[in-house]
Amino acid sequence: MRRPMVAGNWKMHGTRATNKALLNELQQRISEDWAIDIAVFPPFVYISDVLRIVEGEAIAVGAQNVSAEAPGAFTGEVAAAMLKDLGCTHVIVGHSERRRLYGEDDGVVARKFAAVLAAKMTPVLCVGETLEERDANQTQAVVARQLDAVLRMSGIASLAKAIIAYEPVWAIGTGRNATPEQAQTVHSYLRGLVCAQDATIGGQLRILYGGSVKAANAAELFAQTDVDGGLIGGASLSADEFERICAAAAAQQ
Ligand code: PEP
Repeated sequence: MRRPMVAGNWKMHGTRATNKALLNELQQRISEDWAIDIAVFPPFVYISDVLRIVEGEAIAVGAQNVSAEAPGAFTGEVAAAMLKDLGCTHVIVGHSERRRLYGEDDGVVARKFAAVLAAKMTPVLCVGETLEERDANQTQAVVARQLDAVLRMSGIASLAKAIIAYEPVWAIGTGRNATPEQAQTVHSYLRGLVCAQDATIGGQLRILYGGSVKAANAAELFAQTDVDGGLIGGASLSADEFERICAAAAAQQ
């Protein structure tokens, strides 16, 4: 049985005050009985604050991005070792906003994935197709290519220490989520690719769905066999929404 995960990608939102209010409210709402993992991914500058606020609580803290380089002369960058040093346990790599707006190609994403693993944290690898690619029946080819870039650099064993997030680009921040069937089809395809190389790793790999998940649609998405929780953007900024999404994941157990 794979333990579900609900992860909140705060993107470039929040202030010290709103982060504290959000986390305090969440802490009151989260049930210790839920057999799920919960993580939040604040902007870099707030990670230390957030780690202090959730200390001793069952909320993991991660980063939304990382440099592919080891510490050195890279102005403005943040190394994986630094995130580990702070207390981060997870790092998102390959988010479509980074691929699309900051030109991160499969090669860069694969290097970031490897850097996160080398720093002994868990990479959350985002893969997903654009609407044009879906319409051209390229969805499977795109996610396979994105996954393959990582596998060629880090090997199949690396997925025993990683999480994949399937995030169709057309569903991110658009209010238009993939249907449960569309999500399941891609999740099952991805798991099949991994299982073809290692059935144990494929069977244990957590594949999260991301793209306009909210309290109203979480349960039906999480009910799919190969959907192991969600990577949540906009709805993770509301304690009420995020709590209800977590509850939906916990109800699958
Ligand atoms: C995301 O940014 O990873 C995401 C899934 O965003 P949203 O939930 O807002 O679509």
